[in-house]
Amino acid sequence: MTKSAALTAVCALARPAAGACSWCGTPVPKGRRMWCRDRCATAFWKNHWWSRARRAAKRRDKYACVRCGGGRPIEVNHIVPCLGAHGTLSCAHHLENLETLCVACHRAHTAAARSNISS
Ligand SMILES: [Zn+2]
Ligand SMILES: [Zn+2]
Ligand SMILES: [Zn+2]
Repeated sequence: MTKSAALTAVCALARPAAGACSWCGTPVPKGRRMWCRDRCATAFWKNHWWSRARRAAKRRDKYACVRCGGGRPIEVNHIVPCLGAHGTLSCAHHLENLETLCVACHRAHTAAARSNISS
């Protein structure tokens, strides 16, 4: 089983079914294996692979900080910390777990998250 297949089996967003698309569960047409169409593959990567997810989150948030509306430079924050999963396929990169922040808001968020852990 590939890494992505293993992930869709436990992913809250995916609806895999046996012999069907790993993302939406629709029967897969001849000549395709994991995904029924390119859109399903794209949706999977956008929600699980950091560099794709980060780009998609920025586009969704119109390249502005979601807290103060500030512009570049912007960064993408994991609302629930991804715990070092940047280099791996992970459900931590679901778009709903990502928000675009300016550098100042990101720094404030990280500092607040740290003090929450210590208190
Ligand atoms: Zn599909
Ligand atoms: Zn901001
Ligand atoms: Zn997932």
